[in-house]
Amino acid sequence: MKTEARSGGVIARYLEFLPVNKSTPVVSLGEGSTPFLFASRLSDRVGCRVIIKCESMNPTGSFKDRGMTVAVSRALEGGAQTLLCASTGNTAASAAAYAAHAGIRCAVILPAGKIAAGKLTQAAAHGATIVSVNGNFDDALRIVRELANEKHFSVVNSINPDRIAGQKTAAFEIIDELGDAPDVHVLPLGNAGNLTAYSNGYAEFHRLGHCKRKPRMIGIQAEGAAPIFYRRVIEKPETVASAIRIGNPASWRTAQRAIDETQGGVDVVSDSEILDAQRWLAENEGIFVEPASAAPVAWLLNASVTTKERFLSADPIIACTVTGHGLKDAKIISPHLPPSVPPSARAVRAAIER
Ligand SMILES: *Cc1c(COP(=O)(O)O)cnc(C)c1O
Repeated sequence: MKTEARSGGVIARYLEFLPVNKSTPVVSLGEGSTPFLFASRLSDRVGCRVIIKCESMNPTGSFKDRGMTVAVSRALEGGAQTLLCASTGNTAASAAAYAAHAGIRCAVILPAGKIAAGKLTQAAAHGATIVSVNGNFDDALRIVRELANEKHFSVVNSINPDRIAGQKTAAFEIIDELGDAPDVHVLPLGNAGNLTAYSNGYAEFHRLGHCKRKPRMIGIQAEGAAPIFYRRVIEKPETVASAIRIGNPASWRTAQRAIDETQGGVDVVSDSEILDAQRWLAENEGIFVEPASAAPVAWLLNASVTTKERFLSADPIIACTVTGHGLKDAKIISPHLPPSVPPSARAVRAAIER
């Protein structure tokens, strides 16, 4: 009986483009094939067509699952016993889930006190061994690199090329759906693996003739964690957007090259712009994302005149990736509940119309 073929994940969909073969044991939770939604109110605000790739709709609530299915399948094929990763939260949540599905161990190295509650809950729920270090993400990743050569460990950070390979499938899906690549692709920029992955995906389908153009790649960083924008390592990155709180990105060079080659750009947004955009997207498009994912939306909503002239004139089609689900970091938006009312229709009607 074929037990994995029904999962319909990214390996099933794009097998021929991925570093796997027919005998690779596929570990999938049905990731990928995420919604690609035309955002009418956002488009009105920006003055061009914006389509949102909802990567928050992956099995563990972030795009990390696309790379994880490939990395974990390959790790299993190679006989790995323990997955190892450093994480700002979503890689840990994803690795823990895929390890559980594969029946192997997972250890996640996290910056102490810096992980959104939902992500920590996910890692714990899936039974990962959680090690908190008194340092930031960059410290955690350095330690993982040091441990990487110990042979029972299989590192599933985006320094593992299988992760980047899996993540490029999001670009394939966009091309399959649009019939071409968009003009501009904007996404949050943290460790820079995802921007690298998208540009690889677009380039590959362009070579194969599946699209006529390659989009201008635009990465958005948070003001307090913007090493690529400021062109220097940030020792103590700070931002509410914990998934992009990174001071020394692992894929810095490849992402910079992709940005340069496509005449794209890097820009920054402030934490308050990020939080406003998060709320705006939830209220106006029905899409609730975590703060990091709101960074590109903040950029679109607050585009300066120069930005508009440079990237948004000539009615481009813009793809905007929202990377992770809002429930992961729910306490950021603390709801202001009004006092409760008596259990009568009259009181409830009055409360609704107040
Ligand atoms: C990992 C992550 C990012 C950053 O992606 P990079 O590949 O590190 O640039 C952005 N948003 C969310 C929600 C993430 O989980």
